[in-house]
Amino acid sequence: MASDPTDLTRRYAHELADGLRSGAFSAREVTDAHLAAAERDNRGLHAWLTIDASTARRQADAADQTLAAARSEGPAALAALPALLGLPVALKDLVSVEGGQCTAGSRILEGYHAPYDAHITERLRASGAVLLGKTNMDEFAMGSSTEHSAFGPTSNPWDLDRVPGGSSGGSAAAVAAFNAPFGIGTDTGGSIRQPAGLCGIVGMKPTYGRVSRYGIVAFASSLDQIGPFARDSRDAAALLHAVAGRDERDSTSAPMPVPDSLLGLAASDDAAAGALRGKRLGLPREYFVAGMEPGVEARVREAVAALETAGAIVEEVSLPHTEYGLATYYIVAPAEASANLARYDGIRYGPGRRDGDTLANVLATRGEGFGAEVKRRIMLGTYALSAGYYDAFYLKAQKVRTLIKADFDRLWADGFDALVAPTSPTVAFRFGARLADPVAMYLSDACTLPVNMAGLPGVSIPCGLSEGLPVGLQLIGAPWTEAELFGLARGYEAITADAPWRSVEPAQLAQAADPAGPTPAERAAGLAA
Ligand code: GLN
Repeated sequence: MASDPTDLTRRYAHELADGLRSGAFSAREVTDAHLAAAERDNRGLHAWLTIDASTARRQADAADQTLAAARSEGPAALAALPALLGLPVALKDLVSVEGGQCTAGSRILEGYHAPYDAHITERLRASGAVLLGKTNMDEFAMGSSTEHSAFGPTSNPWDLDRVPGGSSGGSAAAVAAFNAPFGIGTDTGGSIRQPAGLCGIVGMKPTYGRVSRYGIVAFASSLDQIGPFARDSRDAAALLHAVAGRDERDSTSAPMPVPDSLLGLAASDDAAAGALRGKRLGLPREYFVAGMEPGVEARVREAVAALETAGAIVEEVSLPHTEYGLATYYIVAPAEASANLARYDGIRYGPGRRDGDTLANVLATRGEGFGAEVKRRIMLGTYALSAGYYDAFYLKAQKVRTLIKADFDRLWADGFDALVAPTSPTVAFRFGARLADPVAMYLSDACTLPVNMAGLPGVSIPCGLSEGLPVGLQLIGAPWTEAELFGLARGYEAITADAPWRSVEPAQLAQAADPAGPTPAERAAGLAA
């Protein structure tokens, strides 16, 4: 379906920013266009858990006043405007927005309203962003498909019978379906990069400590990072720039300067492509795992060849401890989750049961409030931390984690600028395909979770289609090299700007907008039958 060139939802955020400053259109028009798309598609896609139209319009109107004042003052005032002024953002429903619902995809937080803004919410407000609403996610960010949401699954706009990936599947689907130019996700083992890959958009997990986790519902605190989704690397870099930086309220947020180069990625394709020349890229052989789909491997190898043609130097490298990544992650992440989730006792947060004695209330609240996957993680984590098993499992896992990190450190010390790898071994899978087999679901993240174990930045960018579905290319860097990774991503976008797949829109946008079409939950039930 050819899109309408006047449709504001089809523009990149940097194009919208230019048009807002020149007065070509208003922030209210930009917000209304995205709200209309979000409301129209939410039956068919279910990317959103809440759409807050009245607050969004108020923020857009305020942005229009700021824009008008700056226009009357002149170019210097326009240049000084905050970067995201008037631009809509989709927030994963684990980001606290004062007064707003924050479910983390769980029944146990249904009806809970956040009493304060997360650090990134404050930063987004300061940058002038318009908060459109909250997006669907796997419960407590545990999953790779968004099917573990207590509120029903989200569809992938490329094929409505397939998952958008997870756990940040709602934000990824919303950005891919032009419901928002920007989205926020969190990534503990792949939950930004994998859905970005499966939905054909850009998604970055920054270095651990780059973005404050204050006000974000915790899953596994030593792994969780917040990061951006967008439809190109310039936009994603600008969103990261807005939210990154030290915050006293998260002691793990790092006092590292946030490079302003994130805001000024090369505007010209020639400059961006030229920057690829001489870059030394490692191709980790362990990431071409058994079970990888041939179409995915083919697209990734073509992308690598294109980078080489542009002057990058690609060498095969080895990360020998990769095979232990999954096992180690599934000790460390559930262990931390079991501790983080102890706070949901029905007393502090959410509705909770009140009809028995205290212990009975807590047990009933948790028994009814948590879904099966969350209970599985709590059991795994509690077991791994229990006396007698701590050394055998948790301590051993922490040691292996150090070895995984050392594999990467060796390559940075050798002078590699970045690593190139697949984001996910497969394209988006059908609803239900991995629900009955948790390990098959866990394998979705084989190529992403070592990056979290090592605390490194990683970005997924689209690199073509396999059987009509998007394939993601992952770029992994040394700590604090987000700007360099986005520079490489921008270079790859430049050298593939004319590739035919770049102009292909998600194939089932029209069906998603059908007011009489099935919901994702109905599709999933139909496939299971
Ligand atoms: N799929 C992985 C898990 O279920 C990673 C999730 C995430 O990154 N939040 O734990």
